[in-house]
Parts: sequence; C-alpha cells; structure tokens
Amino acid sequence: MNLIMFGPPGAGKGTQATRLVSERGYVQLSTGDMLRAARSSGTPLGEKVAGIMDRGDLVSDEIVIALIEEQLEVHDKAPGFIFDGFPRTVAQAEALDGLLRGRGEAVDLVVNLRVDDEDELIRRVQKRAAEQGRADDTEEVLRNRLANYNALTAELLTYYESQGIVRHVRGLDSIEAVAAQTAEILDEEKGKRKQPAS
Ligand code: AMP
Repeated sequence: MNLIMFGPPGAGKGTQATRLVSERGYVQLSTGDMLRAARSSGTPLGEKVAGIMDRGDLVSDEIVIALIEEQLEVHDKAPGFIFDGFPRTVAQAEALDGLLRGRGEAVDLVVNLRVDDEDELIRRVQKRAAEQGRADDTEEVLRNRLANYNALTAELLTYYESQGIVRHVRGLDSIEAVAAQTAEILDEEKGKRKQPAS
C-alpha cells in the first residue's frame, strides 16, 4: 500500500510517517529530509536548494521528482511507501502516478492532516524550532511556506478526491490521537483490499 501523508507545514506529517515506519514497516520518503541531507553533506544539489528552502519556497519539480525516482529504485522490494512532503504540486502528483504505474502500483490512500487554525500551526512550529533548530521554522518563513501550501499544494486534495482516496484526520489533535485515527483508517483500507471482488 502506498500512502501520502498530506497537510500543511507543521501538521505533523513527518512524526506520523515515522511512527508508521516503525509500526508497519513501510518505507518513508520525505523530500524535505532528502534535501536537508543534501545540504548538510554539502553536495552541489544542497548548495543549489539552500536559499530556496531558507525562504520557504518550493524547490523545482524536476529536482524533487528525480529524488523520488531514485529512492523508488533503491527500494524496489518495499511493501509500501509513505510519501511525506511530496507531492506538493499537481506536476509532482502526476509524475508520482507515472512512476508508480511503471511498477504496477498506484497511490492507494491520502491521509489529510486537516488543520483549520493556522495560528496554532505557527505556535507548534515555533516549538519545533526551539527543539530542533530548523532554519526554516521562523514565523516569517513559515508564513511563506503556508502561503505556498495554500497556493500550490492544497489543490492536490481535489486531484486525489476525484480518485476517491482521501481520508481526513484532525491534524491538531495530540500525536497519539492522530496516530490512532490514522491506524484505524489504514486497517479499514487494508481490510477493504483483502476482500475478494464480488
Ligand atoms: P518539509 O520538511 O517537507 O517541510 O520541506 C522543507 C523544504 O524543502 C520546503 O519548504 C521546500 O523548500 C523543500 N521541499 C520539500 N519537499 C518539497 C517538494 N515536494 N517540492 C518542492 N519543495 C520541497
């Protein structure tokens, strides 16, 4: 099963994805983590994207699609993927569909960590900044990341809703409560997939 953890920056996509890796053995593919790794190892790619990330803008579709393509090849036997922070544009979503189609697979589920209160998100991210020291977790940069999410990424929900694969959870509930809602959805979806076609 391939699933996308979807939601605005700060909604807890990475936290929930990491839990699913340890609980269910999926492979987590986070383009944000890949880009941060490229930066900390000082690769040409890392240097190229540093300024873009620090402003809270989106790195080009071409770059992130290539990163995902590479990782799909590395993990060719994975039981399933959790995409976290990818796709962020319709072009990325279309590319992901094509890459998975090439493996005889598809995006099976989109778990939307729904957040209605942006001020609460900003408070959360400021807490994360204090704990992890991420350069792009300042209020100003976060507001730009949220603006990019609203302008470019949120419309992906419509893209996936038209495929009937979006499930919503309350993103501002506690980590445990979001994990419990997500687990329930995954179990339901797995149950549906096991039922023989009638
Ligand atoms: P994240 O950790 O997912 O919030 O990503 C951190 C930053 O990396 C974002 O603000 C973007 O600059 C860049 N980034 C991560 N994933 C993507 C993506 N799928 N498309 C474009 N830029 C991305």
